[in-house]
This record gives sequence, structure tokens and C-alpha cells, in this order.
Amino acid sequence: MLTRELAGAWGRFLSAEGFSAGELPAEEEVELARMVADEPDRHPWRVVDAALDLLGCAECGGPLGRGPLGCGPCQLADGFRYSAIEIDRPGVPPGNEHAIRVGFSVLRAPHRQSAATVLGWRLNLPHLMAGRLPTTAQAQALRARINRGATYAELAPTLFTGS
Ligand SMILES: [Zn+2]
Repeated sequence: MLTRELAGAWGRFLSAEGFSAGELPAEEEVELARMVADEPDRHPWRVVDAALDLLGCAECGGPLGRGPLGCGPCQLADGFRYSAIEIDRPGVPPGNEHAIRVGFSVLRAPHRQSAATVLGWRLNLPHLMAGRLPTTAQAQALRARINRGATYAELAPTLFTGS
């Protein structure tokens, strides 16, 4: 689902640049991705994340920004990506878009995070995509239950129900 959403954003970016899908030779698409990745502050974050996927990391060989912890170029790219543009969708609480974006980066590179962090985002992301945003108290309560060992199956039905 996450990959499809980013691919959709990349496709819309390509059409806005005047290319139709599949018409651009692979090496030119990579060249375009490199330009986007070099100027993340000029593009929406989904487009930047999709561009990074098209760029291999010269050091670890993975998609740039999603390699193992400790890979220098990935670390750098993962940090720079946050200068990309993020705008809340209409009708969602402020900060919803930022939370979605963090959730994407955590769940698309789970090996860079703790198991508790990954579980929290797995639980929250579908709700974020639906336009909700947990309060700080809700987020802290969830984190506490995860730290006490609660599982996805136990926690998922309780989210945003007030219990
Ligand atoms: Zn790397």
C-alpha cells in the first residue's frame, strides 16, 4: 500500500513534468530522481521518497535512505528528506500529514527502528491515513501498553475507541 501511494505520487510528478508513464527511459528517470533528491525542499515529500527509492545507495546498495543503520549516505538522505514539502490534506487535524510521513519512513525501513516503534506506527498509520490524529495522551498510553508487551492483535481493536 505504501509503495503504491508513493508510485502514484511519482507518476503524477512525471505527468506534471510532461512525461507519460513508461515513456521515460530508465536512466533519464533516475537522473530526474537525482535532481528531486538534490532539492527536496522544492517537492512534496511523497515525490522525494519515491525519488530516493529510484536511487541506489552507493555504499550499502539498498534504496537510498533505507539501508542499514550506520550507512552514512542513507543516514544523510534520511535526514535531508525531511526538508521536503508537507501540506495537511483538507479536513484533517494539523500535523496529520507529518505523522503519515514519519509513519511511512518507519514502516518502509523497519530495520532502522525498534520493534516497539514499528508496532506503534503499524497500529496508527491506517488511522492517520483515514484523517485521524492521536492526542499526545493517546500516543503515550499506546506507547506504555506496547512497552508492557501488548501485541498488535490486542491493541488494534482498542485504538481511537476511547478505551
Ligand atoms: Zn546506504
